[in-house]
Amino acid sequence: MAEKKDCYAIVTKRFQLRTAHVCWLKETQRIYNEILHFYYMLFLEKTELHGLGNQKLMRELECLSIVGRDKKPVEYPLPWKGVPLYFRRAAINTALAAGKSYLSREGQEQPTAAFSAGVTLYKGTYRELTSHSIEIKVYDGERWRWIRCRLSGNTIPEGARCLSPRLVFGERQVELHVPVQKNVPDGRTLKERMGNGMKICSVQFTNRDAIAVCCVVDGPGCLRAVRFLKGGKNYAHRCRKVLEKINISKKAVGEKRGKNDNKRYWRKLKQISNDEAHQISRQIIDFCVETGAGVILLPKYSKEFTKYVMAAVGNWSPLHLNYQIRSQLKYKAWQAGILILESEVHDIDRYCALCGGIVRKQGELFVCENGHRGNRRVNAAWNLGKRTAQSLSKHML
Ligand SMILES: [Zn+2]
Repeated sequence: MAEKKDCYAIVTKRFQLRTAHVCWLKETQRIYNEILHFYYMLFLEKTELHGLGNQKLMRELECLSIVGRDKKPVEYPLPWKGVPLYFRRAAINTALAAGKSYLSREGQEQPTAAFSAGVTLYKGTYRELTSHSIEIKVYDGERWRWIRCRLSGNTIPEGARCLSPRLVFGERQVELHVPVQKNVPDGRTLKERMGNGMKICSVQFTNRDAIAVCCVVDGPGCLRAVRFLKGGKNYAHRCRKVLEKINISKKAVGEKRGKNDNKRYWRKLKQISNDEAHQISRQIIDFCVETGAGVILLPKYSKEFTKYVMAAVGNWSPLHLNYQIRSQLKYKAWQAGILILESEVHDIDRYCALCGGIVRKQGELFVCENGHRGNRRVNAAWNLGKRTAQSLSKHML
C-alpha cells in the first residue's frame, strides 16, 4: 500500500471587510507601499545581492536598513520608525517579488515609481481571525493600534489552516483575501497511479465546435470512454460579434486615439474567453472524475505549430482557448487530485490507433488501410494516450 502523503491546494476565500476606520486602513496601505518602494529601489540598486535566495536577501536588506542591537549606524536607514517587524517583512517580500519581476523583463522600461499593492498581513499584524471578524494592526497616522473589523460574504471551513490574509482595496470597498489550505484527495505519485492500472484522459484541442476531445485510455492502451466538449461555434460567433463592434468603432473614430479605445469591448472579449475556458476545464475534470482517470494528458505543441497554426487561427478562436484551459486545469486538477502531463505530438494522426495501419483523412473523419474508420481527433487522442501509457509503463518496470 502506498503511504498516504499530505497534499494541499490553496483556495482563496474573499470577504467584504467593514470598519469605522477605513481611513486608518488606507493610511496603513500608504505606508506599506512606501516601505515596499523603499526596499524595491534598494534591491535594484544592490546588484551584488540579485543572485541570493529570498531569505538571505531579506537578511541583507535588513542589515542595510535597520539598526540592530549593537546600535551601529546603517547605510540606508529606513525612514519610518516603529514599523512592526512582520509588517516590514511582508512589504520586503512584496518588494522582492516586484524587483525580481522587473529584472526578468527584457525591455528596459523604468522601475515602478509608486506602488499601490494590497497589504499582506503576517503574524503579529493580525489576530482573532474568524469567518465574521478579524483584528488588524493599523497605522493611524501617528501610531500603531489594533482595530476590529467585521467580515462577511464567505466562510473559513472548520479546522482549516489559513495562510497570510491580504487587504485588497477596491474603488468602493475593502476586501480581505484569506488563502486557505485544503486537503487534496489523491496525492500519490505518477508511478503509484500507473502501477494500480490508472487510466489516462488524453485531450485534443480543435478549432471546430468540439473545443476539446477527451479520450480515456487504460494501462494496456484500450479506449474506455470518449467525450466531445462542444461550444466552439457559439464561442467563435460571440467573439466575432464583439470584434465587429470594435471594427465599426475604429472606423468611426479613426485609429489615432490611445489604447483606451474600446476598452469595454476588449474586456468583454476577455470575459467571454475566460468563462468558456472555465467551463471546458471544469468539464474535463468532471469527465476524469466520472471515468476514474487520474492523469490528464495534454498535447505539447511544437514551435512551428505555435508559430503557424496559432497565428492562422487568431487570438479569439476555439483552438486558442487551449492556453487558458491549460492554465486553469493546472489548479483545478490539483484540487481534484489529478495529475497533468504534457506530451509531444508526433504523427499521432498518421496511424490507426486500433491496428497501426496508415490513415487517410476525410475532413474530420479518417479511414485506415484496414478499413477502420472514425473521428480523427479521437484517433489522435487515443494514439497519444496509448503511446504515453506504454512509455510510462516501460520506464517504470
Ligand atoms: Zn485500423
